[in-house]
Amino acid sequence: MSNMEKKTDVILIGAGVMSATLGALLKELVPEWEIKVFEKLASAGEESSNEWNNAGTGHSALCELNYTSEKPDGSIDISKAISINEQFQVSRQFWSYLVSSNLIRNPQDFIMPIPHMSLVQGEKDVAFLKKRFEALSNHPLFQGMEYSEDSEQLKEWIPLIMEGRTSNEPLAATKIDSGTDINFGALTRMLFEHLKNKDVEVNYKHSVKDIKRTPDGSWKVKVLDNNNGRTEFHTAKFVFIGGGGGSLHLLQKTGIPESKHIGGFPVSGLFMVCKNQEVVAQHHAKVYGKAKVGAPPMSVPHLDTRYIDNQKALLFGPFAGFSPKFLKTGSNFDLISSVKPNNVFTMLAAGVKEMALTRYLIQQVVLSNEKRMEELREFIPNAKSEDWEIVVAGQRVQVIKDTANGKGTLQFGTEVVSAADGSVAALLGASPGASTAVHVMLEVLQKCFPQQMKEWEPKIKEMIPSFGMSLSKNPALFEEIQDTTSETLGLSLKALVHS
Ligand SMILES: Cc1cc2nc3c(=O)[nH]c(=O)nc-3n(C[C@H](O)[C@H](O)[C@H](O)COP(=O)(O)OP(=O)(O)OC[C@H]3O[C@@H](n4cnc5c(N)ncnc54)[C@H](O)[C@@H]3O)c2cc1C
Repeated sequence: MSNMEKKTDVILIGAGVMSATLGALLKELVPEWEIKVFEKLASAGEESSNEWNNAGTGHSALCELNYTSEKPDGSIDISKAISINEQFQVSRQFWSYLVSSNLIRNPQDFIMPIPHMSLVQGEKDVAFLKKRFEALSNHPLFQGMEYSEDSEQLKEWIPLIMEGRTSNEPLAATKIDSGTDINFGALTRMLFEHLKNKDVEVNYKHSVKDIKRTPDGSWKVKVLDNNNGRTEFHTAKFVFIGGGGGSLHLLQKTGIPESKHIGGFPVSGLFMVCKNQEVVAQHHAKVYGKAKVGAPPMSVPHLDTRYIDNQKALLFGPFAGFSPKFLKTGSNFDLISSVKPNNVFTMLAAGVKEMALTRYLIQQVVLSNEKRMEELREFIPNAKSEDWEIVVAGQRVQVIKDTANGKGTLQFGTEVVSAADGSVAALLGASPGASTAVHVMLEVLQKCFPQQMKEWEPKIKEMIPSFGMSLSKNPALFEEIQDTTSETLGLSLKALVHS
């Protein structure tokens, strides 16, 4: 056991897309800062950020119906859709900057153009989709969205979904060609390669066990080197807890007041995957449906074309489920060990409130493969069991906290929790997730380095020209950014021809 204490400027815990993004931003803003990363697994992007552990949707509210709700007067609230779209544009700009500065290469290894579609069935949902289309298609950020109830048009857009469909219920879809499929695993690995080239010390098979404040206000991080069983201590002025599902436990260890009264609710997921190229060739879109009554927003069913390892595949799901683990590689004691005296009432209140959700998730866990095929056949009536296999997706740990809506309220978004002095920050929650990593990491910088922001602003604007501006209010800037990022990332119209 080694008690040697090693000092550094920044420690990033976890080698997922969030730490990768924060590291890449910091290396551009303050290249001289020394950064160390500790990751308990053997390589980067192995948990939620891995390509098989998430759906790879570049979430920009082009197709996800849960980002547009119907108001009591029947009109459609598009404010959340606008905000998520704007956040995605921030990611696009930063990725473009990295590509055009040759800091990462071959954007097609992580981002591909793919139409985003919403599909609904039944009069009520068709009426909703039509109103949603009318509200969005007039907005500058959603230009190019098409709507159709015509079965001939739908057969052209989604032949695999239309073939063998016998129901007489009305169907409607929207389609927009500016959507993306993103291999967040590949992106994470590329970003870590770039960080290594910039002398960032990335330590794999190193588990962070504890985080304690030192008398001078820095943080002392206790790390177990899983290669040799030795314990190391590292200190840093700033620590980012980017442990994905592992973040809550680490945040609790800091003891900061902001870490209290927060709990986590794990939701597991499964996808069905088809690699039969004859079937795969018949579908070219991400098609999002409507969540079933009682289902949480993260279990909206969708059928996606994915680009993974230079091969196309189809992904259907996710089927949400319950597991007490906070990470896919976590422990069955994760949930119970996250209950502390300061959050026990918050957790109990959530337990009572979310009985229906827990019941739903347990029902989902025990679904047979044939039942899952039945759900898939609502999308692809002729789907054959032998073409589809199950893959276990990542864990999402939803935040539980006390809000104006009451004690123990389940949150479905992401939350940056930071100390008042900005010396430590953690990212909790998982939605909209990796797509908005750059926006969320800029939030970390704003919360933790308010004094430096003025000095950093010109460089941030060089990387992200829309920083601090609303793209909805500046349609000309949006158009310019859309054009330049499409060109740099290989998403321009000519790239839309099926690859
Ligand atoms: C089923 C599913 C579908 C999703 N679909 C999408 C989607 O379509 N689009 C989208 O944008 N987002 C999606 N997401 C969300 C997205 O995957 C996550 O938001 C994102 O990957 C989180 O990145 P992260 O870096 O925070 O966490 P992770 O990628 O999980 O990385 C955390 C890392 O920290 C390490 N770690 C944890 N504890 C410790 C410790 N004590 N010491 C050292 N290392 C530690 C872990 O091993 C891991 O490598 C989805 C997520 C799931 C689960």
